Amino acid sequence: MKTLKVALLGAGNVGSQVARILLEDTEVLAARTGARLELVGIAVRNVDAPREYAAPRELYTTDASALVRGADIVIELMGGLEPARTLILESIEHGATVVTGNKALLAVDGPALYEKADQAGVQLSYEAAVAGAIPILRPITDSLAGDKITRVMGIVNGTTNFILDAMDSTGAEFSDALAEATRLGYAEADPTADIEGHDAAAKGAILASLAFHTRYALEDVYCEGITGVTATDIAAAKDAGYVIKLLAIAEKLDGGVSVRVHPTLLPREHPLGAVRGAFNAVFVEAESAGELMFYGRGAGGSPTASAVMGDVVSAARRLVLGGPGRTDSTIEVLPVLPIDAVSTRYYIHLDAADQPGVLSKISALFAENGVSIESMRQTVHREHGENEGPGSAELRIVTHRAGEAALAATVKAINGLDVINSVTSVLRVEGV
Ligand code: NAP
Repeated sequence: MKTLKVALLGAGNVGSQVARILLEDTEVLAARTGARLELVGIAVRNVDAPREYAAPRELYTTDASALVRGADIVIELMGGLEPARTLILESIEHGATVVTGNKALLAVDGPALYEKADQAGVQLSYEAAVAGAIPILRPITDSLAGDKITRVMGIVNGTTNFILDAMDSTGAEFSDALAEATRLGYAEADPTADIEGHDAAAKGAILASLAFHTRYALEDVYCEGITGVTATDIAAAKDAGYVIKLLAIAEKLDGGVSVRVHPTLLPREHPLGAVRGAFNAVFVEAESAGELMFYGRGAGGSPTASAVMGDVVSAARRLVLGGPGRTDSTIEVLPVLPIDAVSTRYYIHLDAADQPGVLSKISALFAENGVSIESMRQTVHREHGENEGPGSAELRIVTHRAGEAALAATVKAINGLDVINSVTSVLRVEGV
């Protein structure tokens, strides 16, 4: 039986679980791949650090560069940009197959790394970089290769889903839900990449690239995070039968694609509406297959190691059978359309004076801008008890499908009305 040399870079949360599987499941892996997967070394910063899984001491090394030389498969689980990028490039140059979970690096340098791997004829796989344990990249590239994907919508960031779910179930404000997520270890000390949507955008770029056979980078993704979502928004959405989720959406439109991340209202009965806590899910729509949903743990050492090992087994089978590295198809060149090209339904929350004629003024502005109202709900608040004193009217409007530009013009015009105190929020609605 052929022996394949496997170099592991990193033995943290994910790397130590990958080491465990490689060392404990050797027979199973040999039966599944037709090759003996020999773990030849594990690169770390500190060879004496305590580990979740303790591999034999002699496997640990601080010389990652030497380790990748001569390896058939290099598994990069160090994270960060450097030295991960240099080590991946060195591995590609040496002709090794590379498996990584490094979403931060792929977000910045993905297209250049895929190009290098293509040129060298080696495989670069990164199932673990999107939605942790959930097998989603291979279903898109392999299982659905004979179909045409029209739309992908994903809850691909567990931290923000945990925060929005906590706000939905407890009525907490964003800052309190974030503090709880930090306390429980779901949010990092610096949660910016999660709450501003950058992490979801990096995954959105990968999903869009694979779904639409064109390479998209992080800067192609329109991105809004969840820091502006208030307890009032969540409560109003709940009242109207919706739940707010941070979605990464990649959608085929006339003349190109839209790739975007933003807080989105979904009907509570939508399959993505039922994704609770830190779980992830990806909802795929394809011409022949129809609707598909992939659900599971988006992070964690063991779950992510499962996705890494799927890539390793797939790579090992190819190395046993021979043939060129399977690379992602880039046969299409579909431009990214600006957010203005997107047409969706909107939810608008307004605080207005409670005066005769306010509703007709607002309705007229919607009509002037060609945005059709589906429903409008009004709640009147009075300063002194139920029927006394000056009042204000809280308005919740849901529109039919409209263009971003028309909606923006409508909101600008409404903001200019003297009877409007504030436009409290404008959120997109999907899944209806
Ligand atoms: P981690 O716990 O921080 O582990 C990183 C490992 O890399 C450590 O063993 C560290 O060595 C080693 N390392 C870091 N810099 C090094 C350097 N310059 N030279 C040698 N070794 C170095 O990271 P993780 O959570 O396992 O994540 C690994 C990758 O998987 C990241 O790209 C992450 O984005 C991705 N990922 C993680 C998850 C998850 O749930 N954790 C989910 C999806 C994807 P020492 O131990 O000696 O410090």
